[in-house]
Amino acid sequence: DTALYAAKRAGRGRFEYYSDVMDTKAREAELRHAVADDELVVYFQPAVALATGDLRAVEALVRWNHPTRGLLGPGEFIDLAEETGAVVPLGAWVLRRACQEAAAWRAETPGADPLRLAVNMSPKQVAQADLVETVQTILADTGFPPNRLTLEITESVILQPDPLTISRLEALRNLGIQLAVDDFGTGYSALSYLRRLPVTVLKIDRSFVTGIADDPEARSVCEAVVHLGEAFKMNVVAEGIETPDQAAALIAMGCTVGQGFYFHRPLPPQETAALVHKRFAPVS
Ligand code: C2E
Ligand code: MG
Ligand code: MG
Ligand code: MG
Repeated sequence: DTALYAAKRAGRGRFEYYSDVMDTKAREAELRHAVADDELVVYFQPAVALATGDLRAVEALVRWNHPTRGLLGPGEFIDLAEETGAVVPLGAWVLRRACQEAAAWRAETPGADPLRLAVNMSPKQVAQADLVETVQTILADTGFPPNRLTLEITESVILQPDPLTISRLEALRNLGIQLAVDDFGTGYSALSYLRRLPVTVLKIDRSFVTGIADDPEARSVCEAVVHLGEAFKMNVVAEGIETPDQAAALIAMGCTVGQGFYFHRPLPPQETAALVHKRFAPVS
């Protein structure tokens, strides 16, 4: 094996580098099999009206039901997926599964006020030339309505958007899909870019919500994002609300929708379905 020979010849440090590469390749293969073999699971975290706790939307959050390591969160595999490109089929799988689940809840609660579904999109996915076709196919196959879907992109996508990315995002908007900027405030988004992009939702990053009660700077960022949302006519969603004080501070600022462990943790599909059905249960 030429690579192994070269690595050995270059000495111990090189050999370790080589084995890291092998490890990455092996882990990538394992992850691609996980997608193909349906080892992934989609959890859903409700987003609620802060004042009433009413369910407004659910965000799909991927988990990996690993055969030996148990249930893994995205923190343990999303970076690898992004680096290797495995995130492209993984992300399509998540979108399809989430739309299937959400379409079934809708079918079981006819006439109900339709729920919004949010799904995360990685920078690699947004960079795919066939992004729009992929999303359109999944919506058509599952019957989930485009105008109830929000795709969450990261701030890095909008920092230096190329014209092709912008046109893909505009095509998604033209289908009626909402576009959110996730973890907003962490990446120094240029305001000029934000205005130029067809973005409709800003999600205040958890780090600012966490500090809202006792860190004046974190508080200022939350206020600034709420004002920015008003100025640009974008919806603002607060992430990572863990205490009633944080919820109250956000309400006082004019932020009306949020997510966090204080309201709901991410739930497995069955529990999400139960929550959605409870929402539409007739009042007795
Ligand atoms: P995100 O999209 O910003 O999702 C919010 C994360 O914060 C979730 O972590 C959620 O469980 C966690 N969270 C929500 N409320 C609270 C709270 O009150 N306190 C604390 N401490 N945490 C809270 P999770 O599920 O581990 O996901 C982490 C990140 O992985 C997500 O951040 C998202 O960027 C990424 N991710 C998840 N699913 C997907 C996916 O299907 N595709 C892609 N590309 N990325 C995904
Ligand atoms: Mg998100
Ligand atoms: Mg976030
Ligand atoms: Mg995040």
